[in-house]
Amino acid sequence: MAWFSRLLADIPGIRHAFLDVHESAVFDKSRLVDIKQVHGANILHLTETPAQRPQVDGVLTSLTGKSIGIVTADCIPVLMASRDGRWIAGLHAGWRGAAQGILQESVRRFSAHGVAAEDILVATGPHIRACCYEVSGAFRQTLLETPAGYLVRDYAEQLFSSWPKTPNPNSPAAREENSLWFDLLAFCQLQLLDAGISRKHIDCLAACTYCHPEILGSYRRRTHQPATKTQQISWIERIG
Ligand SMILES: [Zn+2]
Repeated sequence: MAWFSRLLADIPGIRHAFLDVHESAVFDKSRLVDIKQVHGANILHLTETPAQRPQVDGVLTSLTGKSIGIVTADCIPVLMASRDGRWIAGLHAGWRGAAQGILQESVRRFSAHGVAAEDILVATGPHIRACCYEVSGAFRQTLLETPAGYLVRDYAEQLFSSWPKTPNPNSPAAREENSLWFDLLAFCQLQLLDAGISRKHIDCLAACTYCHPEILGSYRRRTHQPATKTQQISWIERIG
């Protein structure tokens, strides 16, 4: 199966999809701009096929016929487009990249090409949710010391809880004492809002990777239950 954003689907000349593991397995990856994701905040402005495989976690382009693909297990795939369909971007947003500001950086990149924040539409795909994303108190401290630490201070209750949010039978039992459950989506949403994106222009799709083993790959789940590595692909493209 695949998920499609109504916001992105309404933009002329844009195609996109958030694929589950089954569709990802048969997807032709040679269609994608080849990047090596490194959990950072660098974004490539794609103007031609790169000579070497760039180590970036985001790609922005106005080219047609180039599919930007993001491969994820528990991190958030973020697809973005200008309302007029002239600019698109794909981001890999795990906690590290988000804490280093990849979401704000993407909005700055659109802005550098004349696209105001209010004209950017965003969709997020499958990722590990706060039903399953157990973290330690040390993790919260680490996050406080990143460029996004101000959000952790200002929105602590939104980002962290002392119990899983809406767990289900597939959610893991707590592994540590005094754990916290982290809301990665809220962390990313807060940064998009901070960068000037309107809440109504953020479409949050799909399910938790951990607790849907039949359709989604999860790095965290594999650390608990050894299994074949599976990932999901999310992609966006301008068509000429
Ligand atoms: Zn879950």
